[in-house]
Amino acid sequence: MKETGKIGIIGGTFNPIHLGHLMIAEMAQETYNLDRVIFVPAYHPPHKHEDVIEARYRYEMTAAAVMDNPKFTISDIEFKREGPSYTVDTIKYFKELYGEDKEYYFIAGTDTIQDLPNWKYIHELLQLCHFIGAVRPDGSAAIEPIIQFFGELGRERIHLLEVPLMQLSATDLRARLRTKRSVRYMIPKAVVQYIAKHDIYKK
Ligand code: ATP
Repeated sequence: MKETGKIGIIGGTFNPIHLGHLMIAEMAQETYNLDRVIFVPAYHPPHKHEDVIEARYRYEMTAAAVMDNPKFTISDIEFKREGPSYTVDTIKYFKELYGEDKEYYFIAGTDTIQDLPNWKYIHELLQLCHFIGAVRPDGSAAIEPIIQFFGELGRERIHLLEVPLMQLSATDLRARLRTKRSVRYMIPKAVVQYIAKHDIYKK
């Protein structure tokens, strides 16, 4: 199929990656005809210090999760960088790699979209890429006020995406793993196997 020149990027801690992440990436890919969606595991998320397992594990789990989808790929740009990554630098990196002429779409859930006013260089970032805000449970009213907050730029660059609601969060899944409850059908099979093999999320 002819390429559209649109590239999706989904950033996250992916601690661990779950079907909520994969589902919003798939819905965004389909709705916006994205040529590919790049999963970018964060090295050191500024707001999440505790409970985040080593970047190498999160990277490998994410790689295992996206492997069977030809439109999905993974980048190690943020975990290779020393120190915290700002999304604006990550987008600039992809612009250099794939070209200025492409359109970039950052895919995120409502909690992330709500936080955008606090992001560093957010105005510059909104000039560089679009945001696709996928609604999370209880988040349906959350995106519109953020679009309004950024005025014209917000209306041009932040798009609401209705997706099937999935009450899944990595926090809940870590709790399940710690207490040896099932995560089957919530985390991809390859990732469940990886977790067992590497004996992670025990405490
Ligand atoms: P945690 O529970 O550890 O905060 P998380 O499940 O929110 O993790 P992240 O890696 O922080 O996972 O999320 C990456 C992106 O995916 C974020 O923009 C988040 O809003 C979005 N996301 C995560 N889970 C869902 C879900 N169930 N539905 C829609 N979006 C989601």
